[in-house]
Amino acid sequence: MISMNPKRSCTPSMTVVGLLPLLFILLSWPLLEPAALAGQAADAVARPIPEPVIPPPYFRAALERGTRSPDGSPGPAYWQVYSEYDIDARLDPRTGLLSGRETIRFHNRSPDRIPVLQLFLHQNIHKEGVRRNRPTEITGGVRLARIRVQGQDLMPVRDFSSPGYQEQGGILYVRLPESLEPGGTVELEVDWSFLVPQNGAGRMGHSDREMYFLAYWFPKIAVYDDLRTWDAEPYQGAEFYEGYGDYRVRLTVPEGWTVMATGELENPGEVYTPRTLARLEAAAVADTLVPIVTREDREAEGVTRGSDSGSLTYRFTAENVRDFVWTASDVQLWTATSARVPDRDGDGEEDRVDIHSFWREYRAPLWEEQALYGKHSIEFESVFTGLTYPWPHMTSVEGADIIGGGMEFPMFTLMGSYQSRSAMDLYAVTAHELGHMWVPMIVGANEKRHAWIDEGFTTFLENQAKPDYQPGIADPDSADMESYLNVARAELEQPLMRHGDYYEPGPGYGTASYAKSASLLATLRGLLGEETFMRAYRTFLGEWAFHHPAPWDLFNTFERVAGQDMDWFWTSFYFETWRLDHAVESVESQDGATVITVRDLGWAFMPARLTIETAGGETLEREVPVSHWLEGNVTAQVRVPASQGRVVRVAIDPDGHFPDFNRENNLWEGEESP
Ligand SMILES: [Zn+2]
Repeated sequence: MISMNPKRSCTPSMTVVGLLPLLFILLSWPLLEPAALAGQAADAVARPIPEPVIPPPYFRAALERGTRSPDGSPGPAYWQVYSEYDIDARLDPRTGLLSGRETIRFHNRSPDRIPVLQLFLHQNIHKEGVRRNRPTEITGGVRLARIRVQGQDLMPVRDFSSPGYQEQGGILYVRLPESLEPGGTVELEVDWSFLVPQNGAGRMGHSDREMYFLAYWFPKIAVYDDLRTWDAEPYQGAEFYEGYGDYRVRLTVPEGWTVMATGELENPGEVYTPRTLARLEAAAVADTLVPIVTREDREAEGVTRGSDSGSLTYRFTAENVRDFVWTASDVQLWTATSARVPDRDGDGEEDRVDIHSFWREYRAPLWEEQALYGKHSIEFESVFTGLTYPWPHMTSVEGADIIGGGMEFPMFTLMGSYQSRSAMDLYAVTAHELGHMWVPMIVGANEKRHAWIDEGFTTFLENQAKPDYQPGIADPDSADMESYLNVARAELEQPLMRHGDYYEPGPGYGTASYAKSASLLATLRGLLGEETFMRAYRTFLGEWAFHHPAPWDLFNTFERVAGQDMDWFWTSFYFETWRLDHAVESVESQDGATVITVRDLGWAFMPARLTIETAGGETLEREVPVSHWLEGNVTAQVRVPASQGRVVRVAIDPDGHFPDFNRENNLWEGEESP
């Protein structure tokens, strides 16, 4: 997601969490020897040497069971559960009532017996009394009409001594009549309805009842994974963790209303007029904008077919997606084109992805060309990630009343109007939200626990796409690095390795999840070199496509590809908020040679890379390896023999690859001979 107000930050009001560190200090205080505290001025505390990164017990257990590998790839015993959804839903746009019945076939591909199913009821964030970390409308949440398992009606129960169900906030627990054996399948039917909120926590809802964006709209099986079994944490207004499944969905709306959804439309001929169909066909092979529905078409009511009942049913299917969303409107304009992507079907030819843009010209005039931004993003990102966009279409929806920034869904994004902003801003948010198709849509990271994985990878990808779209952007990563360092300078940082729902108020969450984690990928590129970095980056994305990676899988993958232990890097920047500050302390003449003293003023570890210029115009490169600092040294001396000439300039990391806290002390320029 990109949140606009304030830029890229989310402010969970979990004040109780803010008290935890204090509690910890109070508890541990008596354990410290008074002598250990005496005389330790803040600036004299010894710099800690990082311990090896030790994953939590659940990850170590997964390594032992072989569902994960020590080299960072999915293990030989890796498994995922899977669900198939069959949903019939009907929207009454006048009242905003959405009602549906669904059948879920849940396939237990785990080695465990499962007695209780857990389902997300994300709409219950709108229910009175439910825990949430942002203000939301109260709509009553989901009304469950009927729940059946294997054809048998279940009733609400107070405990799970007998089969039945229990609704607790955003989670529905279903105690099965019989535990589901490994390899088994259970069929669950749920009838439900809810009132669509106008603003669903800035991620779904309706705008003036003339456009709807339906996300988090159906009861959905929570994630059951090899790390923590059920990982069903209720939606509180921040991020998500979702499992993969197949969908067959029938959506009924009044005639004249267009519908676009995750997946492929199976019955275009039954819902669209021949003119609309002809334009869609043209757009599917176009490289320019093709208007599918114009203002005149809407006014002439020539977009959809009519029907005797006055309503139309759109049928969609989608395979192997994390979620299913849709948009419906009788006023949206619709512009389309297509993206050219590397061969996906194996015929050796490039392939096409349909690019759609749904917008309202009086709300969002800037959106006229938005489909072209989508086309560029999908084309660039398919090549850069090494993973061709796998789905039939990518659709962007303008939702002015609902959202300020942007939010990602499989094959979809909902974005603000960008009315008072520039075309480049709309391009950037498009590149960002479409970048999310790779993480977390293809690479299914846990956004709730580790928001920095999906937001960091996506912000990094957005930054790489920008100069490709608009050549001339010299250093696209520098703005995020500066934004991270500014928060570090203000001492408002919080670690990346923190659950996304439990950051303290302030810029901690946004900085850790977006600016810092994107900067760290740029730092890794500087550290490892372009070729090694890209190999590690693409290996991680490729091996974890349609799987659920954890941070230690990412760390292990980079270490495998780079062929080095990098625990000092993960500890300094991911687990801690240590700051990097290398300085040129002095440049002196000793026995004819020049001795450069580098001082490591920060706590974060990094090799110090020196560029040394001599009076003769020569440029020398020297590196103080990270091992030198890990031995406990805080200074290093670099000797330049007299034969190399007089040193006139010394710069540490002159290209700014590394997040150096204070760059002013990175440079020495000799006025006179040292
Ligand atoms: Zn995002």
